[in-house]
Amino acid sequence: MAKMVSTRLREKTQTLRLLGWIGEVMSEKWDQRFLKLAEHISGWSKDPSTKVGCVVVGEDREIRSTGFNGFPRGIADDMERLSDREQKYPLICHAEENAIMHAARIGLSLKGCTAYVTWPPCTRCARSLIQAGVIEVVYPQESDVPERWMADFEMSTQMMGEAGLMIRQA
Ligand SMILES: [Zn+2]
Repeated sequence: MAKMVSTRLREKTQTLRLLGWIGEVMSEKWDQRFLKLAEHISGWSKDPSTKVGCVVVGEDREIRSTGFNGFPRGIADDMERLSDREQKYPLICHAEENAIMHAARIGLSLKGCTAYVTWPPCTRCARSLIQAGVIEVVYPQESDVPERWMADFEMSTQMMGEAGLMIRQA
């Protein structure tokens, strides 16, 4: 009897382990899909120096919003403005901000969602992601972050951590 119970228990444990493993493989596959999509969308940015993409996904892996860095609608994004940092910085929306604002424009909630980004979010976007109710941020293992953003990324990671967001690299 005891042997039967332990065999059954072992089988159950093995099944659970297998399901856990399948689950991990599946979510790894979806992580890579959404990160690739974010990467693709980053290519739509006209910014000559930095191209960032963001895909916000709901709990059933449905895409709720996307964004890339660029000027607001109606603001001329010519090369003269885009290649001059002093003109560009006050005008540009970051990818995460655009994804959040596109959702706001059509009345869609991002509460409980995961944001896939090609870069770790900056402090400006971290604030918005927290306030929009995003609960998880995923960015690639290898993201080529320029030195000038490093201190800001450290602070945003700290901020998101303190607010209870899960931050991971995939
Ligand atoms: Zn940002």
